[in-house]
Amino acid sequence: MLFLDELPEFDRKVLEVLREPLETGEIHISRAARQVTFPARFQLLAAMNPCPCGYLGHGRRACRCTPEQVMRYRAKISGPLLDRFDLMVEVGSLPLEELQQLPSGDATATVRARVVAARERQWQRQGRSNAELQGAELDEVCALPEAERSYLNQLLEKLALSARAYHRVLRVARTLADLQDTALARTHLLQAVQFRRGLAGFGSNE
Ligand SMILES: [Zn+2]
Repeated sequence: MLFLDELPEFDRKVLEVLREPLETGEIHISRAARQVTFPARFQLLAAMNPCPCGYLGHGRRACRCTPEQVMRYRAKISGPLLDRFDLMVEVGSLPLEELQQLPSGDATATVRARVVAARERQWQRQGRSNAELQGAELDEVCALPEAERSYLNQLLEKLALSARAYHRVLRVARTLADLQDTALARTHLLQAVQFRRGLAGFGSNE
């Protein structure tokens, strides 16, 4: 697992180099006529602020950034890199009193058991995790009724999502269904698309 805190603070070139291993699970290093390939399968997690000062959208503190500064900050993450994140979640700041009144969610052990069961389902079905599904196998495992397939196609076209995003949406939707131990349905597709839209307005198109 690779966790990059303050994602936009990393050199753009460093971030772009991550694209290949994220896609292939391998990294190729070329040094003077020699090329070496190393295994590099990892899960990428990243965190960032909404703007350079960190207070954009904050309920009680004012953001000091200009719109140009916000745009420049967000554009540090390229569209193609952003495209490789399956889940994007905006975490707003909560006033202390609201935080204290939140109902306590599932215990970590309960969530862990659910995840372990979902992974076991994947291994039993296809001998690998959903994240590793490719091509025909992905289509087979994520087979959709005709109506659902055309619905998803329309949705992706409307949101202008890439072909890569389409396959990633399918894998996430299949995983959401596995967590509930149910068949793949429209709700899972919508949820998976929603997770990609978590940071609409981020990323540049270069
Ligand atoms: Zn700001």
